[in-house]
Amino acid sequence: MNLNRRDFAKLGALGLASRLAPKLNAQTSEKKTGYAVIGLGRIAGHFMAGVRNSINSQITALVSGHRDKAERIATEYGISTNSIYSYEDFDRIAENKAVDAVYVALPNSMHCEYTIRAAKAGKHVLCEKPMATNVADCESMIAACKAANVKLMIAYRCHYEPTNLKAVKLIRDGALGQVQAVESSFGFNIRPGEWRLSKKLAGGGPLFDVGIYSLNACRYLTGEEPEDITAYASVLDHDGRFNEVEENVSWTMRFPSGIVASCCTTYGAPMEGFFRVHGSKGWLEVSPAFIYEGLRLRGELSGTALDEPNAARDPSHFQAEAEHFSHCVQNGIEPQSPGEEGMRDMQYITRIYRSAGIAI
Ligand code: NAD
Repeated sequence: MNLNRRDFAKLGALGLASRLAPKLNAQTSEKKTGYAVIGLGRIAGHFMAGVRNSINSQITALVSGHRDKAERIATEYGISTNSIYSYEDFDRIAENKAVDAVYVALPNSMHCEYTIRAAKAGKHVLCEKPMATNVADCESMIAACKAANVKLMIAYRCHYEPTNLKAVKLIRDGALGQVQAVESSFGFNIRPGEWRLSKKLAGGGPLFDVGIYSLNACRYLTGEEPEDITAYASVLDHDGRFNEVEENVSWTMRFPSGIVASCCTTYGAPMEGFFRVHGSKGWLEVSPAFIYEGLRLRGELSGTALDEPNAARDPSHFQAEAEHFSHCVQNGIEPQSPGEEGMRDMQYITRIYRSAGIAI
């Protein structure tokens, strides 16, 4: 079959549209999937609040190096103190029938170990992004979950967020005509002392942490996988923060249809996370696109202006993500952002780093 450029773009788009379509909805009749949360830091707080609002999920265990903090949270969420584990005795969780799944909210390089230990304990795994710090670890995580016959989902919350999904739908429905180019960025000015500045714990700099949102968005917006990638990285602030990881990365991608994308990320400046898509019939942007609330969709489509602020508040993204994963666990359905999706981003991150001359 001979496909022209437009046919190819449409096919890719359809594949992604079916993956992203919010058709797997939790039902009020579902039981509650019990989660053990590993790593009680900032994102875990948002996730637990989202679970509390959900119809089909609950927090039933905690894993922490700080017993006092875990006991405080256990009281808040009505969790038995018998269901508090340390990192050392985590494997005992296999015996805890109230735990169906584990949410891994640890520094990036620890995702692999705890995903594999959770799978071996017979628990489904919802793992934070980035999936790991290298492709080999992603492969081991996928293999371990397959061997244990448990589900693995990477917590790409924007895949379950209505404004991002609306942007994808408008593109898939042809409202922009032929998409030509995508721009996206996300960054912040990092404080010294964060584990995010340790190559061992984080794997790399802002690309692993927040640039990944732009990378992933370019893939779900175009519905294609990048073919060619070129990148640059730099450090401007020689103040001790960037001895191990880069401060800035910018990269461009060309997709099989010919769509081009241009992205950047930083740990040296407050950089609002956004994307803008340019097509033959108009443009759309979501800005901000990647934070927990206040998302706004704007654009001009065939001469008609669009301006849709999203009134949903944190922790709605986390509620949607938890409800999706619990629904998959309870009904034996493959999540829409499985381990393979996290591994694809890791493969592209590796290519971006290689192009920028950074060892990974
Ligand atoms: P955090 O520093 O707030 O929390 C990390 C937790 O891990 C803490 O409870 C800490 O005690 C624990 N920990 C265990 N061993 C540690 C070690 N050796 N060094 C440091 N901490 C250790 O981090 P966070 O912002 O919650 O990020 C956790 C994960 O969540 C990361 O992978 C990050 O990329 C991801 N994240 C996702 C989102 C999202 O929106 N999906 C947002 C922020 C972070």
